[in-house]
Amino acid sequence: MHIKELVLDNFKSFGRKTRIPFYEDFTTVTGPNGSGKSNVIDSVLFALGLARTSGIRAEKLTDLIYNPGHQEGSSFEGEREASVEVILDNEDRTLERSQIVNAAGTDDVGDIDEVSIKRRVKETEDNYYSYYYINGRSVNLSDIQDLLAQAGITPEGYNVVMQGDVTEIINMTPGARRKIIDEIAGVAEFDAKKEDAFEE
Ligand code: ATP
Ligand code: MG
Repeated sequence: MHIKELVLDNFKSFGRKTRIPFYEDFTTVTGPNGSGKSNVIDSVLFALGLARTSGIRAEKLTDLIYNPGHQEGSSFEGEREASVEVILDNEDRTLERSQIVNAAGTDDVGDIDEVSIKRRVKETEDNYYSYYYINGRSVNLSDIQDLLAQAGITPEGYNVVMQGDVTEIINMTPGARRKIIDEIAGVAEFDAKKEDAFEE
């Protein structure tokens, strides 16, 4: 499974709907400083629920909505929203239909060669709201996280290696490094379940 395409709409510096294709083996994103390369990564973390707002370089969720006056530090009045869709290539059936149907809560998930995960954040005058979708079906964040975990995509899974992560891993104690390897190998989940079972 790999990312096939990102669709950013009004997200951070992407004030227009932008489709970004990804390839199976290798894709690089290049561009001048401040052109939005890191914002592309932030969009993936945002949509897949893999990071806190600090991890996507925002104080609050609504900072992720395109703001034409961002560089001047001015804010924006009125209702606004942003969305990111991550289209995963599932031709290898990393996720089976039953898993997608379970997560989406309906049989009607369409063609499963692609799995679409979408998140929308909407700001109103005095509040903000998040909406999540799997193949266009409205779901909760936990449904997305559960489904992605079945494909080995988790916040602890190092699917995204952030700036500084490599240095951090090198400087860790052997015990802490072992923990990371357990997370990646999927052993940690069973350790946690075992602990829960003992507690019960
Ligand atoms: P570098 O090469 O320096 O790492 P980069 O290509 O990774 O640069 P980003 O950090 O992705 O650049 O993009 C930074 C730009 O995004 C800044 O110009 C900033 O003003 C803009 N930006 C961030 N949030 C918003 C927003 N909500 N609305 C509009 N622009 C935004
Ligand atoms: Mg950057």
